[in-house]
Amino acid sequence: MHITMLGTGYVGLVSGACFSEFGFQVCCVDKNQDKIDNLKNNIMPIYEPGLESLVIKNKEAGRLTFSNNIDKEIQKADVVFIAVGTPTRRGDGHADLTYIYEAAEKIAKNLNGYTVIISKSTVPVGTGIEVKKIIEKINPNANFDIASNPEFLREGNAIEDFMRPDRVVVGIENNKAKEIISSIYKPLFLIETPILYTDLKTAELIKYSANAFLAVKISFINQMADLCEKVGADVHDVARGMGLDKRIGSKFLHPGPGYGGSCFPKDTLALIQTAKLYDTDISIVETVVKYNQKRKSDMADKIIKIFNGKTENKKISILGLAFKPETDDMRDSPALDIIPKLKKAGFKISAFDPVSMKEAKLLLNDIVFSENIEDCLKDAEALVILTEWNEFRGLTASKLKQLMNGNILIDLRNALNPENFNDSEFTLIQIGRPTKNKIIINQ
Ligand code: NAD
Repeated sequence: MHITMLGTGYVGLVSGACFSEFGFQVCCVDKNQDKIDNLKNNIMPIYEPGLESLVIKNKEAGRLTFSNNIDKEIQKADVVFIAVGTPTRRGDGHADLTYIYEAAEKIAKNLNGYTVIISKSTVPVGTGIEVKKIIEKINPNANFDIASNPEFLREGNAIEDFMRPDRVVVGIENNKAKEIISSIYKPLFLIETPILYTDLKTAELIKYSANAFLAVKISFINQMADLCEKVGADVHDVARGMGLDKRIGSKFLHPGPGYGGSCFPKDTLALIQTAKLYDTDISIVETVVKYNQKRKSDMADKIIKIFNGKTENKKISILGLAFKPETDDMRDSPALDIIPKLKKAGFKISAFDPVSMKEAKLLLNDIVFSENIEDCLKDAEALVILTEWNEFRGLTASKLKQLMNGNILIDLRNALNPENFNDSEFTLIQIGRPTKNKIIINQ
């Protein structure tokens, strides 16, 4: 079985490497020449724990290759996965399907013998059928089936998620494609992973429902956190008390500055557009999208308010820029909303993230990018934690005292243990938790 992975980004590269680890012959192709050249030289285009060693291992075993010759690799394939991006279309919130349709045309022109074409990209309901029509129009004699296999991996934990997923969803039109896909996922079947076969449209919709539901869950706990702050309750205990109820579950009940990343923001917007097209009420998701956008801006206001508006030339240190730990992905990271607003308010900002600095430098202007945590914190009036990297969790009052000028810790991820700061001169402000010490602003 020869698998061609069209698109070598977070999903394509991880899936390609994992399928080769299952023992299949996989070629990852991409229209970005540099990406493929780098991968041939073992240079990863993204930061993802465990990815580099998995790629190198399978390359050396001869099962994983990289190529820019997309035409040739489609001709050789028994299975073509589409793993290209589906960003938000500028101006209207729909998923931009340009890359999907480009891929469909490319596939149509190069199909050679029976091939199963499987979309791993997140695409609006009906896109699979559209891809099929494009291929049939360009190549009426093509012998192929179409399938939808939405990907649920999380950046930062992508390999584990791929190798041990909660479930695999497969939308198919007939048994011939089902047999091939079930042979690809046989290693997961052996570890009793539930594999859910549906029709194409249902599979496409499952992905959007799952992401939108998680966005709702995060926003719910964020709103509860706001209420906890007002009434003096602790949102962590509220979340624990809720999460122990098996009907609710404890995951995605961690408050923060609003969700970001490459999926939730664009997928919630796209789902709203789909609902509009079909004249269906999806007001829950609409509310969440609006609230989440406002929340990021509110977080900047919260920081400005802590300084009583005396923000001009105050130095604050931002730890964490990526939308979550263990990734360098900056797409829709809350940092991109919060930092510019703080800049505008007059703060002098230094920032540090363990892996996303290269990406961040392309997106954020006029701030100091520090080499390490210590440089970042030097002489700061306040520390703001925007991403909960493990290495920030261990910061102690004595270390911070050595480095900082002020005594304010604004932890928008609740990464620090409040007990470690109880008897210190620091004021620790977290999300949805009571603040114990008095705030002192250095003039
Ligand atoms: P990405 O932007 O990291 O990678 C997409 C890659 O496709 C790029 O390298 C691009 O050059 C390449 N490409 C675009 N058009 C191409 C073409 N015609 N031929 C060959 N290569 C082409 O995107 P991603 O984050 O991997 O996401 C891919 C899809 O998977 C999206 O639909 C996304 O919503 C979905 N998804 C992403 C994640 C995630 O965590 N990133 C998780 C689940 C699902």
